[in-house]
Amino acid sequence: MKKKYSFITTLLLSATLSQAQTADSVVVKKLYDATLSHGQSYEWLRQLTTQIGGRLAGSANAAKAVQWGKNVLEQAGADRVFLQDVMVPHWERGAKEEAYIVVGKQKITVPLLALGGSIATPKKGIQAEVIEVQNFQELRALGKEKCEGKIIFFNRPMDATKINTFEAYGGAGDQRRSGANEASKVGAIGVIIRSLSNTLNDYPHTGSMQYATGVPLIPAGAISTNAAELLSKTLKENPKTQFFFKQNCETLDDAPSHNVVAEIKGSEKPDEYIVVGGHLDSWDVAQGAHDDGTGIAQSMEVLRLFKELGIRPKRTIRIVLFMNEENGNRGGIKYAELAKQNNEKHIFALESDSGGFTPKGFGIQGAAASVFEKIQGYKSLFAPYGLHEIERGGGGVDIGPLGPQGTVLIGFKPDSQRYFEYHHASNDKFDTVNQRELELGAASIASLVYLLDKYGL
Ligand SMILES: [Zn+2]
Repeated sequence: MKKKYSFITTLLLSATLSQAQTADSVVVKKLYDATLSHGQSYEWLRQLTTQIGGRLAGSANAAKAVQWGKNVLEQAGADRVFLQDVMVPHWERGAKEEAYIVVGKQKITVPLLALGGSIATPKKGIQAEVIEVQNFQELRALGKEKCEGKIIFFNRPMDATKINTFEAYGGAGDQRRSGANEASKVGAIGVIIRSLSNTLNDYPHTGSMQYATGVPLIPAGAISTNAAELLSKTLKENPKTQFFFKQNCETLDDAPSHNVVAEIKGSEKPDEYIVVGGHLDSWDVAQGAHDDGTGIAQSMEVLRLFKELGIRPKRTIRIVLFMNEENGNRGGIKYAELAKQNNEKHIFALESDSGGFTPKGFGIQGAAASVFEKIQGYKSLFAPYGLHEIERGGGGVDIGPLGPQGTVLIGFKPDSQRYFEYHHASNDKFDTVNQRELELGAASIASLVYLLDKYGL
């Protein structure tokens, strides 16, 4: 009898569970249907990338993007939209860079972009012999004797064998971030790096670098991967090859800017918060489509979808358009600072900043085992939409500072194979984004947010 009873209980329980699953799958389908049939993310991306364009923190375009984001979110029906003040670094590229390889009397022009944060070269530019190295160890071994007065050329490619291209990017990033410091320590007068891209093309990819204290500042730029191949080949044939570059960038005083925050008020636990966001700034030379216009457009679409379908979240959902991810993360830091100051309990934060490609899943950071398992339990709901990767890892630069407050951090994971063709380069344009891929991402994010709000963490 006892056995029979528990058997029936189990039956009832699983019936209730599967009913819930069915109800959830209906909502998830509605979210995908609405996005794919009449979503707004693609149109918003078009406006942000083609009407505003490149929008580095501190620039006039970044200010335009803030106003644009605020207006769109108000029109999309947010319960409240507000700006958070934040002071951001203000670096400007100035007049277009010039660069060429000098072999004897021959000059071969190559595409170069100053790295964000770099100083300018002297007005006349600099020209010197080139020392090619793969890494810091090799550079240190050569020492002052070989490197003094030279231009150091960091030419370690992103590892092509890594399936996750973000790992390959991570593995090559030190050359860009601190190559100038290491080169300066051995007496070099300038640095050029092979662009952090895993394809051979003619687009230089910029990105941020930081100067260390106590070492002389030297200018740093990135040349395209094709130019890096050419320079390397030329150096092998003629070790006396020289390189010339001229860049006109400067760092100005910090400038006032903003994060844009839009809310849907929670119906049961309005004092608990969920963040969904991306970063509004982009590199100056790009339209900032995949990085990170797509994350912005998808986040805003989550709000629009909830409003359109009449989904009333239990907790307060905040769509956050973060400022200054690219060269300082001041917006992300400020957001977390204010959250702490105002005693706002953030349950989880989700960021889309890995491009607008076909969604594959989510990376989860800072979740207890039980929470992680619970999220993995949603896999069957996502399976019809091709989402299958729910793994540890992920997060995002902007939401990172919320981590120490105990917030679970979730990174949206689209397919990463093409991202570094466009990342931080002038070809990161609207027309490289596929509408359906973008929309599938928006619906995926909205679905996970819906489930995590409904069932909690
Ligand atoms: Zn980004």
